[in-house]
Amino acid sequence: MTFYAISALINAITSSILGTLLLLKNKKSKLFILFALFTYSVAGWSILYFLWQIETSAESALFYTRAFMAFAVFIPFFYFHFVTVFTKREKNHFLSISTGYIFAGSFSYLSTTQWFVLDVTKKLNFVHWPVPGDFFLPFLVVWLVYIFYGSAILLSEYLNSSGHYKLQIRFILIGMVIGYLGGITNYFLWYDIPIPPFGNILVTFYVLMVSYAVIRYKLFNLRVIVAEFIVFSLWILAVVRLVLSNNSVDYLYNSLYLVAVIIIGILLIYNVRREVSTREEVQKLASKLEKSNQRLKALDKQKSEFVSIASHQLRSPLTAIRGYASMLTEGSFGKFPKKAKEPLERIAESARIMALSIEDYLSVSRIESGNMKYENSVFKLPERVEKTVDDLQGEAVKSGLLLMYKNKATTEGKVHADEGKVQQILHNLINNALKYTKEGSIDVVIEGSKKDKEITVSVIDTGIGMSEETLATIFQKFQRSKNANSVNVHGTGLGLYVALKMANDMGGDIVADSEGDGKGSTFTFSLPITDKEKSSKAQ
Ligand code: ADP
Repeated sequence: MTFYAISALINAITSSILGTLLLLKNKKSKLFILFALFTYSVAGWSILYFLWQIETSAESALFYTRAFMAFAVFIPFFYFHFVTVFTKREKNHFLSISTGYIFAGSFSYLSTTQWFVLDVTKKLNFVHWPVPGDFFLPFLVVWLVYIFYGSAILLSEYLNSSGHYKLQIRFILIGMVIGYLGGITNYFLWYDIPIPPFGNILVTFYVLMVSYAVIRYKLFNLRVIVAEFIVFSLWILAVVRLVLSNNSVDYLYNSLYLVAVIIIGILLIYNVRREVSTREEVQKLASKLEKSNQRLKALDKQKSEFVSIASHQLRSPLTAIRGYASMLTEGSFGKFPKKAKEPLERIAESARIMALSIEDYLSVSRIESGNMKYENSVFKLPERVEKTVDDLQGEAVKSGLLLMYKNKATTEGKVHADEGKVQQILHNLINNALKYTKEGSIDVVIEGSKKDKEITVSVIDTGIGMSEETLATIFQKFQRSKNANSVNVHGTGLGLYVALKMANDMGGDIVADSEGDGKGSTFTFSLPITDKEKSSKAQ
């Protein structure tokens, strides 16, 4: 068998398998039907070309050349129609497509007459090369016009497209150039130009490239198609081997080979399909998760905005309530009945607690919307701590607790941070110690040296303590221990979340420690020591 016969056979097998595979994947799509028609034209042309190559009688050779041309004439028109559908420009080219099919029908009919192939004769090594009839040259001209026209459409689409789609067009274009350059080598000898059809095999490239582009276009899984393609090719080869068996031993051997190839092939396709469908399932789930995640994020943002608006609305009336309550208790509006003293103090206290909670909600919404601003300056942390302890001394006395300040640091403890936020953190930690301690003491201890490069404030209480599970969650939003409610009903579970976030943003940290329920707690707040002398704004 000659190289030309073999290349025609390969073209026929590849084209028909690929066309069928894609058609089976999507029987209803026009694009796939056109692609299949295109590949079948290539396959029909190739198989008859193969038969012509191995034919010895001139009469049959003439028949085959006419027959293969009857298929070949369809190739450029199906290609053209395919391109217009692929680029979604079918409507604009309706006339050219219809004219193309009229040409195809007429040429196909003519190809069975002497108008197309006059006779066969010896040229180069080919014993029965066709001699062109009068209509062959017009056909070649139309053939070229349609191929150039189709390619021009593709090229303009390529230049105006982007991304994935652009890549697909590139594949079709490259495939087309290679395929048609190869295909054209078939026609030189017709006009006595001594170039044999050496490029015939390149037609396979064309079919492969276009298939690849179409598969990606429709997002079919390439692995399944490749596996099926290999398996079907092996089956066809095994059947050919069986048919060509010389004797009964050969026949038996080839039958067994065919059975084995069929079984292995089925298993291979089954496994690849299963793997691919599992992966697709996982991808679908992942994209669903991604979507719901985005929705949740959007909802969370809306919630933060709502909290921020609501908190702002609550803040101003609350300030008025607190102001008037304190003016009333101080006697700014004259004397009031003794009985009213306690209710008034309760109003003031409740308004104070509410204001703190609102502050927490506002801080959370600022953190979540990324709007927390820091006005950093250089100040001495021990001094700030001492003042805060003094501020809260009254509360401690009211609760019958001993609040003590101890400075063990060997440095003056300058830090570069937002003093207001530091005060908020210290308030939160010492207030918590006061809230969660029924009796005993609270020590506020400062430690640190220049060598440590950081200064720490530990708030050590003898209160309700924390279990390991509580310790693991208290820095999260809305997390409170089970026994916290029995001691302090007004907590929001936001204070520590906000405090830690602020500490971290200023380069510091807060860690909590406790030996267990009822065994007291220690909260340690640390900040880096700075060498800076002057204040500066950080954010
Ligand atoms: P809140 O005090 O408003 O509940 P926080 O975020 O400040 O919110 O604290 C979260 C939880 O951590 C508290 O509910 C409590 O369970 C626990 N906790 C905080 N400080 C202490 C402490 N000093 N002793 C025992 N438990 C504490």
